[in-house]
Amino acid sequence: MQLTKFTDIGLRVLMHLAAGDPAASYTARGLAEELGVPYAHVAKVVSRLSEIGVVHARRGRSGGLRITDLGRNAGVGWVTRALEGDDPVIDCDGPTPCTLRRGCRLRGALATAREAFYASLDTLTVADLSGADGLPDGVLPLPLIPRAEQARDGAATGRRRTPSQPQQNRSR
Ligand code: SF4
Repeated sequence: MQLTKFTDIGLRVLMHLAAGDPAASYTARGLAEELGVPYAHVAKVVSRLSEIGVVHARRGRSGGLRITDLGRNAGVGWVTRALEGDDPVIDCDGPTPCTLRRGCRLRGALATAREAFYASLDTLTVADLSGADGLPDGVLPLPLIPRAEQARDGAATGRRRTPSQPQQNRSR
């Protein structure tokens, strides 16, 4: 099952906010730069995250984005589902409906598999993905690397490190 870029960016934004300084003020433009994704995508994602209550956007001079308690404690599966929507894994009824629809067992099996996928992700919260405490074995905390350090390391190694590429190798 492949997640949309929209969901991927949404999860990255949430992890970044959860791992960041609670007193800091974040903007969609700043997050886009930090995460290395287009501003327009981040703006759309932030709008959806705000809609489902996991991000709060304060207006005004002292405004900015912050993750809510709901966002911090939300299951990763719940957030992923909210960003992905309820479209089926396969569109059996599209412009050219599948001729095997009557009595197809694969359709139900795929729906069950998708529920299991979300349930599995729900064993972790957004906070779990972003903090050092209470992480399951093999899951590393999200490192927040100052951009100046990223640039310096990138110049030294010939490639740019992003917040989703910690210094240590991940073992999966
Ligand atoms: S085989 Fe089954 S799951 Fe696949 S498109 Fe046809 S009805 Fe849908």
